Amino acid sequence: MHAKKINIAVDGYSSCGKSTIAKGLAKALGYTYIDSGAMYRAVALHAIRNGWITPESINEEVLREQIGGIQIDFKPNEVGSQDTYLNGENVEKEIRSLEAADGASRVSTIGFVRQALVRLQQEMGKDKGVVMDGRDIGNVVFPEAEMKLFLTASPETRAKRRFDEMVARGENPRYEEVLANVKERDKRDTTRVESPLYQADDAWVLDNTHLGIEEQLQRALEMFNKITTKK
Ligand code: C5P
Repeated sequence: MHAKKINIAVDGYSSCGKSTIAKGLAKALGYTYIDSGAMYRAVALHAIRNGWITPESINEEVLREQIGGIQIDFKPNEVGSQDTYLNGENVEKEIRSLEAADGASRVSTIGFVRQALVRLQQEMGKDKGVVMDGRDIGNVVFPEAEMKLFLTASPETRAKRRFDEMVARGENPRYEEVLANVKERDKRDTTRVESPLYQADDAWVLDNTHLGIEEQLQRALEMFNKITTKK
């Protein structure tokens, strides 16, 4: 359809619908969707399983030694999306737990973890045609990305969406706990020293507190068309 491929960075707060819009864009454009948060979650899961992360602390020394041996990749599944693999094992379901989310938010503050994953993400995007969502995609991973989206929504709206997703998966969450988790992660994401979440100067901001998925996708596709026909 469009001859020249570009990279699309989708950044924003946790649970504000980044993956929905990023997946929708990738599908509409025939691009590859990459969930960078899943990579932080997979590192966290590996560290939790090995006892390197406890509620009190992270054993950074061991994690630093072992990080090179953690293999993360994505493979298509039968429902048309992708599953995350940790050292060859499908961990898609396990990395979506609150525990893994909290672990991911904690390991993502560590410089050497970010460096290792950013390198991998840049490798995945080197041939373009990638839609990647995360926190630092437009600023650090693909600062030269031709299209950058920054999504926001109120913490309560985001907590309600995450809560509904968990219920749909058969879990039994408490709304207050989910909201506290969203706020805690916002705080960590925006205040950490290593690549904090902030809106890139050339990003296009979309507050979707009151916007449906179709409307967001339509606006994003209009932006894509404007960018690609300008070139
Ligand atoms: O997007 P998701 O909620 O799956 O990300 C899990 C955690 O990984 C986030 O709380 C965030 O702290 C971290 N993350 C990050 N940089 C990214 C993607 C995710 O720091 N590019």
